Amino acid sequence: MKQVPVLIAGGGPVGMTLARTLATLGVRCLLVERNASTTRHPKMDITNGRSMELFARLGLAGKLRAVAVPEENNFDVAWITSLTGRELHRFRYPSVVEKRAEIRRRNDGTQPREPAMRVSQVMIEPVLQASIVDHPLVEARWGVAFEDFVQDESGVTCTLRNAETGATEEVRCAYLAGCDGGSSIMREALGIGLEGKSRVTQRYMIHFKSDSRGLMQAFGVAWHYQTPLGTLIAQDDKDTWTLQTRPPAGVDPAAVDPGPLLNKWVGRAFTRNILVANPWTPHLLLADRYQSGRVFLAGDAAHQYIPTGGYGMNTGIGDAVDLGWKLAAAVKGFAGAKLLASYEKERRPVGLRNRLASERHTGVRIKIGELYEKESDPEALARGIAALGNLENESWGIEFGYRYDGVEGDPAVYHPTTAPGARLPSTFLRDGSALYDRLGPWFTLLRFGDADPSELIDAAPVPLDVVVIDDESMAPIYEAKLVLVRPDTHVAWRGDHCEDGDAVWRQVLQ
Ligand SMILES: Cc1cc2nc3c(=O)[nH]c(=O)nc-3n(C[C@H](O)[C@H](O)[C@H](O)COP(=O)(O)OP(=O)(O)OC[C@H]3O[C@@H](n4cnc5c(N)ncnc54)[C@H](O)[C@@H]3O)c2cc1C
Repeated sequence: MKQVPVLIAGGGPVGMTLARTLATLGVRCLLVERNASTTRHPKMDITNGRSMELFARLGLAGKLRAVAVPEENNFDVAWITSLTGRELHRFRYPSVVEKRAEIRRRNDGTQPREPAMRVSQVMIEPVLQASIVDHPLVEARWGVAFEDFVQDESGVTCTLRNAETGATEEVRCAYLAGCDGGSSIMREALGIGLEGKSRVTQRYMIHFKSDSRGLMQAFGVAWHYQTPLGTLIAQDDKDTWTLQTRPPAGVDPAAVDPGPLLNKWVGRAFTRNILVANPWTPHLLLADRYQSGRVFLAGDAAHQYIPTGGYGMNTGIGDAVDLGWKLAAAVKGFAGAKLLASYEKERRPVGLRNRLASERHTGVRIKIGELYEKESDPEALARGIAALGNLENESWGIEFGYRYDGVEGDPAVYHPTTAPGARLPSTFLRDGSALYDRLGPWFTLLRFGDADPSELIDAAPVPLDVVVIDDESMAPIYEAKLVLVRPDTHVAWRGDHCEDGDAVWRQVLQ
């Protein structure tokens, strides 16, 4: 029987990121995806700055940006009456180029290493796929479904089925990751329940191409044009668009004709080619557990949100990187007995926090919808929209401020800190290089001033890079003279001196 250290079921963005993370840390895996190709459904349209930082560490930021919306284009969100009516209020957000300049200018630890990226899932998945299919440590098989498994004390025996031939094969792995999406059979087989609300509303998606830019960009380039009836997402600011709307009341969603629905939202008929259209239902769900023995859930298998805020895949990328380094540590023999159990302890509260945030953001959209009903004066409506705000694209505390020490923090604001469990603040050093780019693939010890790192270095049971920072202006941001950083760029430990390196490492790897 074939043996692999880690088997990943599901080749969506989360499964592929997990495979890439394991490979980067030198661990072999087998990834199986039941479909023959990557998705045709645009689904996500914002990869946030945190995911981009993590992708950058996997060597993927440049390749992903190459298929994204041009870096000069804005991220504006505009509420409109209709495309043939008027723009009411625009929430302005800088382009990647402008944001990069702001990040460099501020350089106070409050900023991400990478700006966010506008890109659809149709575009991002092939890049992730290319990053693993050619990797010598990843065996990635599309057109192979994960079917069943039995786990025992020393491993998991899995049954895979070739989607075309129907042939089955058994594979034995030490650890199994269920990245098999919202209807995860892994979650089902483990008997793990979901808490929250399912089918919270009914949506209808129309993904199309159109050269009618004058109409699609009636009020200039923007990422989203929104009305209470839906959001038009500009997928490339050129010719590809997605309308997320709702089916007409009283009509079977499966029987909806997308053409008239699109015309109705736009305000008139226009030339276009509909690529995909289907009804779908968002959920607000969180798995009761993320782990059962040697089997782990990540991404949509563990949590599902309404897309307001764009937290679905982004939360899953955080899962993949957290789980990835811990599985790699376990396979390599670095992990203490409780390290793998810390995956659920760290990531499930983030899953819950982000679910609540996406629900709150939807609440704001509902309030704006009510304003549209009540307010006939466009100026007053615009003021009302501005006052309700657009936290769904400004919740830096959600995106960057999640911590693994139980401290909840303000969802709207990111406060840089090196408290163990927090994300390492990002800065640029005197020579212009990014501190994040100096971090090693495994652990990194940052040393400021005259602190003695020898205890931690001598006792290190894992690969450790040491980065000496002789830039006094940066030291206060990092709050201690020694800061030990994990592979997922969360702080493992900090102090001005270390007297017992063994004790620190024992704690960190548990
Ligand atoms: C309209 C919409 C907009 C969204 N916008 C955003 C956004 O802006 N930002 C964001 O972060 N998220 C967004 N999301 C959410 C995002 O699309 C999901 O969170 C993301 O796809 C989850 O990735 P995943 O890899 O966990 O699961 P999936 O993408 O669902 O991938 C799971 C994969 O597993 C495969 N699979 C399932 N069962 C098996 C099996 N038995 N064997 C083998 N393979 C299997 C499936 O074929 C699939 O390819 C949006 C979603 C929607 C619907």
